[in-house]
Amino acid sequence: MQFKVVCCKLFVSLTLIAILLACANTTRSGAVGVNRSQFLAVSASEVDRLSAISFNEQNKKAKEKNILITSGPTYDRLKLISNRLIAQTGVFRDDTRQWNWQLVLINAPILNATCAPGGKITFYTGLIEKLNLNDDEIAAIMGHEIAHALREHGRERLSQAMAQSAVVNIAMAAAGSYGSAIGAANQAAQYILVLPNSRQNESEADAIGLELAARAGYNPQAAISVWQKMNQITQGKGSPEFLSTHPSGDTRIEQLSQLMPAVEPLYFSAPKPAVNK
Ligand SMILES: [Zn+2]
Repeated sequence: MQFKVVCCKLFVSLTLIAILLACANTTRSGAVGVNRSQFLAVSASEVDRLSAISFNEQNKKAKEKNILITSGPTYDRLKLISNRLIAQTGVFRDDTRQWNWQLVLINAPILNATCAPGGKITFYTGLIEKLNLNDDEIAAIMGHEIAHALREHGRERLSQAMAQSAVVNIAMAAAGSYGSAIGAANQAAQYILVLPNSRQNESEADAIGLELAARAGYNPQAAISVWQKMNQITQGKGSPEFLSTHPSGDTRIEQLSQLMPAVEPLYFSAPKPAVNK
């Protein structure tokens, strides 16, 4: 009887520890005040490893098609903006200096941009050209994508999927062949980058992205013009990739507007980029 009670107490304690370990807040709240406990049952290193495999596969395929851009004026423009944004990520968490940040530009008429876990940024030329994005607007989109990575939204979504047994082969990937690792990585990427983000995750990425851009010296008002342009170009033409993963609610622009008083002072006092197109 006594043993049973001890066992039961031990079980409850271990369960509580497991839940406490699984629930964490990945970022500091910043001026925009993002603060929510997250369910994180998959390790960050495993998510980063699978994301890196998926990122490398994407780049390998793009290189084979001769559409991978890693130099030149547009790439350099993106690199400058990304460097300024990355320099501000320490506001939200301490470990980003150790991240292996990467940036690729893919020459394709696709309206999309992503930042995979661990800081793997992908931009498509179609997004920049079709929306005729200025630097402030590129910073708004890139800041939003980087914010998803800082908040580890991909890891959170994968954790939720695994808790529901929707993903079965991720856990086996570590012991498997390179081929099975790619399969697992692609499956993980579906949850991390392809399925629509929740409204809550979107709001968090909007808020943190806005603060990153403002602190990096980019006008936060550009986040609003990006969504106005996105809405205009997509009217009657179906949803581009970016909108399929970033559901555009009527409240998004309104929420961004409400955050301006918190981020505009940061923008006004921030050093500005030398050339702002
Ligand atoms: Zn998003």
